[in-house]
Amino acid sequence: MNRYTELEIPGYEEVVRCDNPEVGFTAWIATHNSHRGPALGGCRVWRYESADSALTDVLRLSKGMTYKNALARLPLGGGKSVVHADLKKVDRVALFEEIGNFVESLDGRYITAEDVNSTLEDMVAVKRRTSHVATVGASGNPSPFTAYGVYCAIKASVRHTLKRERLDGLTVAIQGIGETGGRLAELLKKDHCRIIASDINQDHIDALARKLDFELARPDEIYSAACDIFAPCALGGILNSRTIPGLLCQIVAGSANNQLHTEEDGALLYRRGILYAPDYAANAGGVINISCEIGKAYDEKQAMQRTAAIGETLLEIYKLSDRQKRPTNLVANSLAEDLFGIDTRVF
Ligand code: NAD
Repeated sequence: MNRYTELEIPGYEEVVRCDNPEVGFTAWIATHNSHRGPALGGCRVWRYESADSALTDVLRLSKGMTYKNALARLPLGGGKSVVHADLKKVDRVALFEEIGNFVESLDGRYITAEDVNSTLEDMVAVKRRTSHVATVGASGNPSPFTAYGVYCAIKASVRHTLKRERLDGLTVAIQGIGETGGRLAELLKKDHCRIIASDINQDHIDALARKLDFELARPDEIYSAACDIFAPCALGGILNSRTIPGLLCQIVAGSANNQLHTEEDGALLYRRGILYAPDYAANAGGVINISCEIGKAYDEKQAMQRTAAIGETLLEIYKLSDRQKRPTNLVANSLAEDLFGIDTRVF
């Protein structure tokens, strides 16, 4: 049986711990801010080193969701759940049904979805115990929407910096050609871009090679590839004091989460004159798509239109950055803070 403990964490609206020794897991749900609506964020399953590191992760991730959902102008707050468990040793269905009970105990203040190590099938188990779960409806795989959002981010960045409406002839270096990077390559190729790509998974390289022509770079070469746009679509922390000095691009825009190693690295890019599309603005297509099935019938056309608006959000950030002479990552943070500081539910 689930045992719940409420935790008081400054800066967070609600943090609850759930222990279930019978099934074999401990989980946390954190709601960072719900001024814009119920908190939406996925359910991450991981074998953490300790309960403290799991708690740190859920706090960090739920805060990130507040910023992402606000900047995408969604009527949603930021939350997240993490489950500390060994999936090889537990009854997976029982675990996710109990997570469903945990989510239900919050009475709709938190809405869950898939994340690292939780699948659509797991969400079906969650849904047996609560209706507060997204992604089991019609919206499907978020990756095509994330990739399309990054494509729109690249178009807006090119318009702002290179004063061009079209992408043809531009070179894009993509780090990671999996679910999002591979789809991004296809969209850019249709616009007659030249693609340089790196990956550490030969199957993904072969899969893309069957679809389109591209130049392969070694994983460590991608940072110094001669290109107009660098699209990080694999790992976090890759924009840092070691990689930024060698970049030859004019724009960085990709799907990866937490691309900047530190906020100071945003200033480093800014001083080098490289336009950085803040990651949580550029990669919001997936969550925008999910939001289109919460509380209403899913509408794919609306999901695409709302994803395309990522380009407008970025142009707004870039104009403010020019006017305020501040790095784009800091401008995005301030804009998001203004947006979630306002309680839109009262309008
Ligand atoms: P994915 O696992 O399908 O693709 C990532 C690719 O990067 C893989 O092909 C992997 O082999 C490759 N890779 C890993 N390390 C690499 C390295 N050192 N150099 C080059 N390639 C490397 O993942 P994805 O769904 O495309 O997600 C990519 C990033 O985007 C992640 O940071 C993810 O959190 C973020 N993101 C994804 C979505 C989505 O809808 N899928 C939404 C928002 C953010």
